[in-house]
Amino acid sequence: MTEILTSTGAGSEMVWEARYAGALMNTFGPPQRVLVRGEGCYVWDADGTRYLDLLGGIAVNTLGHAHPTLTGAIGAQLNTLGHISNFFASPTQIALAERLLELVVPDGAPDGSRVFFTNSGTEALEAAVKLARKHGGAQRPRILALEGAFHGRSLGALSLTHKAAYKDPFGQLPVDVAHLAFGDVAALERAFEEQGSAIAALVLEPVQGEAGVRPLPPGYLRRARELTTEHGALLILDEVQSGMGRTGMWMAHHQPDVGGGVDAVVPDVVALAKGLGGGFPIGALVAIGDGPATTLTPGTHGTTFGGNPVAAAAGLATIHVIERDGLLGAVTERGQYLRSAIEALGHPLVSGARGLGLLIAIELTAAISAEVATALMAAGYIVNAVTPTAIRLAPPYILSQAQAEAFVADLPAILDSTSEVPL
Ligand SMILES: *Cc1c(COP(=O)(O)O)cnc(C)c1O
Repeated sequence: MTEILTSTGAGSEMVWEARYAGALMNTFGPPQRVLVRGEGCYVWDADGTRYLDLLGGIAVNTLGHAHPTLTGAIGAQLNTLGHISNFFASPTQIALAERLLELVVPDGAPDGSRVFFTNSGTEALEAAVKLARKHGGAQRPRILALEGAFHGRSLGALSLTHKAAYKDPFGQLPVDVAHLAFGDVAALERAFEEQGSAIAALVLEPVQGEAGVRPLPPGYLRRARELTTEHGALLILDEVQSGMGRTGMWMAHHQPDVGGGVDAVVPDVVALAKGLGGGFPIGALVAIGDGPATTLTPGTHGTTFGGNPVAAAAGLATIHVIERDGLLGAVTERGQYLRSAIEALGHPLVSGARGLGLLIAIELTAAISAEVATALMAAGYIVNAVTPTAIRLAPPYILSQAQAEAFVADLPAILDSTSEVPL
């Protein structure tokens, strides 16, 4: 292990950044830092500088970095049985599927509900697209999604994604998708009225992440459930970013203001990934009820790595720690504190803080989020400029109150340092 790490060579930030530019395809722009180590909510770069990680690998590192229960479970599984192919099954894979069915439908998943494991969110959405297409058949080729939606980058998932800049270079995309105005119930009703018999599925993020942390307005999801049921279309929720406790409940659609509480919305299909493995790559498609769960049959879909024992062990360990340490409550509490404390600063560059749990956007009064993120990084805080006017926070669930307070205390001076930019 140490030998392999040293064989990469040692280097400063500058050396590594040059090597990166000479070896990696430039799909992400230059990296902000080269990171070499993490522990808890902190990471260190190649020059030894420490950062408080308030982004968590984009809503992934729910337990922070190098959590001993997670690394212990991954190591133990890898030392026992690492990979087997889907000609075989493993106890961790089976146990994780059972846990996910419980977590996604807390009142009890109906008989016939089943899970398909993937390695990423994109693959979960790709499986959802295939499931929807097979469900719809030739009569119902169309899928509805929302403006602002992000569902991944493979051609099927990309068809669902809204942003033109992500799609335009790739010509004709394979899925017939209509994008509706975000949160607009009348537009949704009109779409079903006019195209109802052609619609295979409606795909929604309960909280849009990449669009800048936008929860669906109250009532929208409930109406979406009614309309999809009425017209024989599937309701597919993309909980890749918002699920697995990120909002303080296991699923964002369990939040009372989104789709939970009395008459809770039960979707047909839920896509998971990001936080599911606490940093280990894994995704899942949870199909609720016999119909959705039996649409993909032997030969119609598959994956080599999906559901491998190590990824499944990571998922089980992540869920275990969240439950054992009461982290859903911590997410709710810390998220409320951060939003209210940031708003209470009354800083002229901040117009508000929105979101649910630890999926938060700080809305700025000017299009300077990139400058603000750069200044925060220089001050030792990792965040993300999710839109030109918004800073996204998606920290580990183990973020301490003291760490949250330190960020809030430092924020005004860091914002001041960028405010030579005209308001
Ligand atoms: C990140 C994300 C995806 C894609 O997941 P990957 O693991 O990056 O492939 C899909 N949907 C949503 C809502 C996401 O946030």
